[in-house]
Amino acid sequence: MAGLYFHIPFCKRVCAYCDFFKEVGTARLQPLAEAMLRELEARRDYLGGEAVQTRYFGGGTPSLCPPEILGRLLDHAARIFDCSHVAETTLEANPDDLSPHYLDALRRIGIDRLSIGIQSFDDNCLRLMNRRHNAAEAAEAVRNARRAGFGNITVDLIFGVPGFGRETLRRSLEKALELDVQHISAYHLTIEPGTAFGRRMERGAFAPVDESVSEEEYALVHETLCNAGFEHYEVSNFARPGFRARHNAAYWHGVRYLGIGPAAHSFDGRERHWNVASVGDYIDGRPAESETLTACDRFNEYVMTRLRTAEGIDLDEVAARFGSQQAARVVRHAEGWIRAGGLRREGSRLAVPPRRMLVSDAVIEELFETQDDTQPSETEMLSYS
Ligand code: SF4
Repeated sequence: MAGLYFHIPFCKRVCAYCDFFKEVGTARLQPLAEAMLRELEARRDYLGGEAVQTRYFGGGTPSLCPPEILGRLLDHAARIFDCSHVAETTLEANPDDLSPHYLDALRRIGIDRLSIGIQSFDDNCLRLMNRRHNAAEAAEAVRNARRAGFGNITVDLIFGVPGFGRETLRRSLEKALELDVQHISAYHLTIEPGTAFGRRMERGAFAPVDESVSEEEYALVHETLCNAGFEHYEVSNFARPGFRARHNAAYWHGVRYLGIGPAAHSFDGRERHWNVASVGDYIDGRPAESETLTACDRFNEYVMTRLRTAEGIDLDEVAARFGSQQAARVVRHAEGWIRAGGLRREGSRLAVPPRRMLVSDAVIEELFETQDDTQPSETEMLSYS
């Protein structure tokens, strides 16, 4: 089973924290769509005959795209790949694009999951982030989506915003729960160079929240959502039972995926490909670049993605895929973290406790394979399980 991703890189305006690849305005939407159709043709063999299970429109702001264009991309993909087993088709959307008319059209072309970029239900916080919508519009967008028949809605929220503490965050979480969404992604704000926040930080007019605030707010997100019946299944992701994001999970599980559009990434099980991050060069047909993953890359990617999930890593799987020496090395490096409570071992599984996932990077780095790793002794090789 494989995933199909479409990148729509247009936005109406730039949010203060955003360093994603995008351009302002939709003037080049039509030529971009034509180029994406050509790319689908050119990469018809990429998925090796595997059926597509999930489709995802990300951006940018895919909800700036007329449904006719989105539908053409889906239809064309269905002529090239086996899409008869598709289980999830997601569109990222900004709340102010989700009119009842637009939502009805999305349902007709086969979109069955909406990822709505709300970020906060606090108007001042939204203004600081330079978002296009206000809190009332965000709530109305979710209600409109439900009325249109969407039964699988996820909303994005951002926490760790300087100047907005636990109470603002609590109100946003409660509002999302009141709107009865099935999934919530909660991301910690990162202040990236080249963004409006980054420039303010360079001038000394803005600073990230303290680590203790980050951890407190993360704990608040975890407790509020888990108490409401959500599963905390990945560092930033919470779902009602049965509503985990399938497309994203495919990335974490090393499934093949094809990314169409500028700056889109693809993975064929062995090599990673990425398209040029330029709308003009993409339309002109600049080919994707690629790298072949070494065994070490594949192992480190496995550790990084799996330790961000509640399931964690499976030592039996590590032994089967990467060898029993690797599994023994993991056990050796994990011991200190298990004693310190940063890792939990249950049977063959090693996982970061969900409440501590926000600070899991140090654990992940500890388990990475590096050039200096020494070989374990024969006893250790035999004793990983
Ligand atoms: S809408 Fe999304 S992609 Fe566009 S600027 Fe805002 S955060 Fe970035």
